[in-house]
Amino acid sequence: MLDLQQLINGVYDDLQSSVGQGRVADYIPELAKVDPRKFGIAVTTLDGETVSVGDADESFSIQSISKVFALTLALGKIGDGLWRVGREPSGTAFNSIIQLEQEQGLPRNPFINARAIVVADILLAGHKPREAIGEILRFSRFVANDETVSIDPDVARSEQATGFRNVALANYMRSFGNIKHPTELTLGVYFHQCAIEMSCRQLSHAGVFLANGGRDPHTLQSIVSHERARRINALMLTCGHYDGSGDFAFRVGLPGKSGVGGGIMAIAPGRASIAVWSPGLNAQGNSMLGTRALELIAQRTGWSVFGP
Ligand code: GLN
Repeated sequence: MLDLQQLINGVYDDLQSSVGQGRVADYIPELAKVDPRKFGIAVTTLDGETVSVGDADESFSIQSISKVFALTLALGKIGDGLWRVGREPSGTAFNSIIQLEQEQGLPRNPFINARAIVVADILLAGHKPREAIGEILRFSRFVANDETVSIDPDVARSEQATGFRNVALANYMRSFGNIKHPTELTLGVYFHQCAIEMSCRQLSHAGVFLANGGRDPHTLQSIVSHERARRINALMLTCGHYDGSGDFAFRVGLPGKSGVGGGIMAIAPGRASIAVWSPGLNAQGNSMLGTRALELIAQRTGWSVFGP
C-alpha cells in the first residue's frame, strides 16, 4: 500500500539542498517580502484525507491559481459559451500583450492574464466590485471547505499600485469591446482575486473536486459536472503554466495551475489533489522547487494522465 505521508516526507527531504532556488516575484512589491526558503506540500485524496509536510499550514498568495476558481464560477454563471474562444495554449508569457493585437483583442485562454481579466469582467456583470470579489472569496472558501480563507489587502493594494501591464491589457481589450465595465472596476475584482491567500492544506482541498469528477469527496456536494471537471483539467494541462505548460506536462504529466506566489495546484484525476509552495520562480514565473517536487511525487506515486 502506498504510504503517502512517507512518500511526501521523502520528496521533501530529498529536495532540501535545493530550497531557496529560483527568483521570488518582485514586480509585485508585497510578494518580494516572502521568505524564499519556504517549502510546503499537501496532498488530499478522494477520501477527503490530507497529508502534509513542511510549511503546508502557512498561507501564501495564490495569485493565478485563483484563475481556476474564477473560471469555474464564470462557467456556472454563463455556461459553456465561455469556451467558444479561449482554449488554446498561448505559448507566451502570462502577461503578454502581443497576441491581442493580432487576434482582435480576444485572448487565447482563461489562464493567461488577459482572459482572466475578461473572466473577472464576466463575474462583475450585475454586481458591484465588492460583491463580485465576495462571490469569488465565498466560492474559494467553499471548495477549500474552510471559512478562514481570506484576501490579503496589502497584496491587493500592491497590485493595484503597480499592475501597469494588466491595466494595459484591460484597456486594450476594452477598445475592442471585449471588456464591458470600466477597466478600473474589472481590475479591482481581478487584483483582489489574485490576492486570495491559502495554505497548501487548504489549496489541496480546494482542488480535490477536480480529481473527483466535480464532487467534493468530503461533503459529497457536486460542484461541477464530470464533463466540466474534465475540461477544466484539460485546460490546466495545456495552459496552466503559460509558456512553461509543455515542460510541466512533460515532466509532471498532470494538470496543474501555478501562481507567481510560488504555489502550484496539481490534479491527479481519480486519485488526489496536490498543492506545493516554494516562492522561487523559474523564467516562466512558475515555482522551480514546486515543479521539481511534483515531478518526484508523480514519479514515485506513478500518477500521470498519460498512462501507468
Ligand atoms: N496577479 C498576478 C498578475 O496579474 C498574477 C500572475 C501569476 O500568478 N502568474 O501579474
